[in-house]
Amino acid sequence: EKFSDLPLSKNTLKGLNESNYRIPSDIQRETIGLALQGKDILGAAQTGSGKTLAFLLPVLETLFCLQWTRLDGLGALIITPTRELAYQIFETIRKVGRYHDFSVGLIIGGKDLKFERKRMDQCNIIICTPGRLLQHMDENPLFDCCNMKVLVLDEADRCLDMGFEETMNAIIANLPLKRQTLLFSATQTKSIRDLARLSLKDPSYVSV
Ligand code: AMP
Repeated sequence: EKFSDLPLSKNTLKGLNESNYRIPSDIQRETIGLALQGKDILGAAQTGSGKTLAFLLPVLETLFCLQWTRLDGLGALIITPTRELAYQIFETIRKVGRYHDFSVGLIIGGKDLKFERKRMDQCNIIICTPGRLLQHMDENPLFDCCNMKVLVLDEADRCLDMGFEETMNAIIANLPLKRQTLLFSATQTKSIRDLARLSLKDPSYVSV
């Protein structure tokens, strides 16, 4: 089965093709199918399983199907534990999403807070690390995420291992309840189950 057999838009298929992605991996096929039905996902996936496209394609398709425009503000938030992972996700979305007209931003610190804040207000998709995002939420009363549709928690177990449990809980408490959430973790510990209970609604389990 090829990517072109999945219910993906022409723009996405073109981006995949030009990035030399032809055949979806197991986790991609399974996650994309369920996510495009609007389901929340709890994904058990190691690095290297192809989980990045498994969450990026539903993000792109969901906003595309909603006819999201640059003026519609923040549509999707992707939280990942490290700057390096955030960069990798950013690069992948820049390649695969190049035929969509979404503004994508990295909020990972290392830049002036004011500069990031201005940038954030113009983003449709934000890729961020937990600490930096919460800092913006705390310090910028104008940060507006009330229309946000999709939340991705990438490598959630690593976020927790790095001591971000309270930070993640505080972020989630600030987000609109009416949203879709995709949570990926390599391990399934009690703290992941707690986070899942807090962030997911009637999730489908996907594992590879
Ligand atoms: P990830 O687990 O998302 O970090 O992906 C691991 C590696 O697999 C990356 O180098 C991707 O470019 C590659 N990859 C992901 N999905 C596919 C696919 N469907 N076909 C070929 N390579 C892929």
